[in-house]
This record gives sequence, structure tokens and C-alpha cells, in this order.
Amino acid sequence: MKARLYAPGPVEVPPLVLEATARVPHHRTAAFKEAMLQVREGLAKVACVPGEDVIILAGSGTSAFEAGLLACVPRGAKVIGLAAGKFGERWVKLARHYGYAVVEHAVAWGRDFDLSELAPLLRAHRDAYAVTVVHSETSTGVLHDVAAIAAAVREVLPEALVLVDAVTSLGVTELRPRDWGLDGMFAGSQKGLLTPPGLAFAWLSERAWASERDLNPSFYLDLRKERAQQRQGQTAYTPAVSLVMGLKVALAMLLEEGLERVWIRRERLSRAVLAAGEVVGCRIFAERVSPAVAALLAPDGLDAPAIVKGFAARGARIAGGQDHLKERLFRPSMMGYADAYDAVTVAAILEDVLRELGRPLPYGAAVGAAMRVLAEA
Ligand SMILES: *Cc1c(COP(=O)(O)O)cnc(C)c1O
Repeated sequence: MKARLYAPGPVEVPPLVLEATARVPHHRTAAFKEAMLQVREGLAKVACVPGEDVIILAGSGTSAFEAGLLACVPRGAKVIGLAAGKFGERWVKLARHYGYAVVEHAVAWGRDFDLSELAPLLRAHRDAYAVTVVHSETSTGVLHDVAAIAAAVREVLPEALVLVDAVTSLGVTELRPRDWGLDGMFAGSQKGLLTPPGLAFAWLSERAWASERDLNPSFYLDLRKERAQQRQGQTAYTPAVSLVMGLKVALAMLLEEGLERVWIRRERLSRAVLAAGEVVGCRIFAERVSPAVAALLAPDGLDAPAIVKGFAARGARIAGGQDHLKERLFRPSMMGYADAYDAVTVAAILEDVLRELGRPLPYGAAVGAAMRVLAEA
């Protein structure tokens, strides 16, 4: 059986990227230094901050936000954590772990933040040093409007830093940290950047870099130490050389296709999967849909884990729901190495699985809905 990876991370890696990872260049060679500098340049372009520092760490995405938080938020400072899903909650846990004074603002999973609720919250915490938020909340499929959130924060708390988890938006959908007034953008290699897990990325604004008082930086994940080294094409410690070689190829692929085309393609594929789901009785879970993941509620009377299992029995891995949504939600993703026919494949498998689970669906029901979306120019 052919194995297919349609999970919201790690994603299907293009063969050319995989091939490139089959190398272990020594990190102190001129050739590797050259590769590092190219990756830095490509990464900054993909992050819409051309020419700026996007620090590359050896770790999963979480390591980048840990590094970022410790790099710009003073010990014990107040942090407002906006949480509307698993990853927003992770930021809150992380900040609490390090002893920050955390104010959690939670909204129901699947919902977007209501800006009119945000203003009074911010006014009640004028001493907040930073606000954390997830751009694409993978657990719910919601794309939060971080540009609007950053503007709302600026209005009430002009000094506060806005730190954004962009793990499933970098390379997936429009993300402009500088234009949107963000102060921190953190991501990982195994989602929109088409590379195996193991690299994490961090970008900070000037004022975040300038926030140097009373910090408690991590010894290993020290962004300032890395910045000094990485500007020279070096790293403070042994870099994940093989992954850097793969990332170089992945970035070239994304930039060759064109960032905006990539965003449009991914949005269309994900929309096709959602349309396929809707036509067979699933409901879209997200109030404001992220193209990173098609979060679908199982049709009434069916358990989501049975659907996930049905996909797995056909060689295809998708994600189920997390925490309280385990029984209700399933989440295929088109964020990896995928084209239009992958969306059609997901639709075909979904149909098959639902028929097996006792739904009398006509052949082609979901496939047709997906293809109609894909056919729209
Ligand atoms: C995958 C993901 C992460 C990163 O998790 P790691 O396992 O540390 O790579 C963080 N935030 C979001 C929104 C994600 O989808």
C-alpha cells in the first residue's frame, strides 16, 4: 500500500528535499557556510522580512518560541496569552513554566478572537510586557488575524511586544511580520517549509532585540549568541547540517513557485478538501479558516477516530482532534508536498471511509465537490 502523509505536520517532504538531507557536510567548511548563508537569505524572503535575521535553531517549533520568549521578555514580566486552542495554551504553559505573570485570555476552540473583547482586557493590564498569540491554530483550523490583533495591542499598549506562533502559517499563507507590526515570529521546518522535523526559526523586531534588560536567556537556545554566529554563516553549536541542506532545496522550490502562488495553491487545495467534507455531511469547525489544515467535524452519528482509522487503513495519515475534540474532529492537511490530485485523493478516501462506516454515498460525491473547487480558475 502506498503511504500518504496528509497530516498537519510533519508533512510529506518532496523527494528532492529528502535527497538533499542525505548529506552530512562538516559545519566548519566553506561549502556549508555558503549553504547556511543561502538558507538565511531564502528563509528571510519566505518570511517576508528580506535581508533580516531569521535565526535557525536545532529543535522543533516549540524551541523557537521558548528561545524567543526568553530573548525579549524580562524575568517575571506580565504576559497576556491569547489562547483558542492547543497551541495558544502551549504558550501560556511555557510562559508559566518560566515564572512570568501570565494572564490567559481563552476563547472556545474553533472561535476567532473578538477584537471588541480584547480592548478591555488590554486596558485592564497596562503593565503587560508581551502578548502571545497563534497565527494559524492547527488544533482548531482557525487562522487568527494577527495583523488586526497586533494593531489592537498597539492602540492600547504601544510598548507591548506581540509574539506570534507562525508554525503553520510560514510558507502556507500570507504572513508579513514587519508590515503587520509583530515583534516575534516563530516557526518550524516540518510544516509549510516541506522539510523533516528538527529545525526551528525565530525572527524578532528591532525593539524585541533591543529589549535586553533583566533577561534570563536559555544557554543553548540563545538567540543573540546565534545571531552573531549566523550572520557569518556559522552557528554557536553543531547545526543540524543535513536538515539545513534539505531546507535549502525546499526554500528554493517555494521561491521558484513564488510565495503568493504557493499561498493561493494551498488555500485552494484546503478549500477543496473542506468542500469535499461538507458535501458528505461534515461541518467546518473553524470560524475563520486557515489553509494549513481542514478541520472537519465528523458527520452526525459518526466518531472522528473511526474516520482517522479508515484513512490509516488505506495508507493515509491525517490527524484527529486534540483534547476534548478527539471524538468529533478530524484534520487532513494539504500543507505538505501536495497538488490538486492530493486533494482529490483525500476526498476519495473520505468517501470510501464513510461508505464503509455505513453512509450510502454516491460514488464521486466528495470527489466531485473537491474537483469543482479545483476547477475554479
Ligand atoms: C506543529 C505546531 C507547533 C510546533 O510544535 P513542535 O512539535 O514543537 O514542532 C506549534 N504551533 C503550531 C500552531 C503547530 O501547528
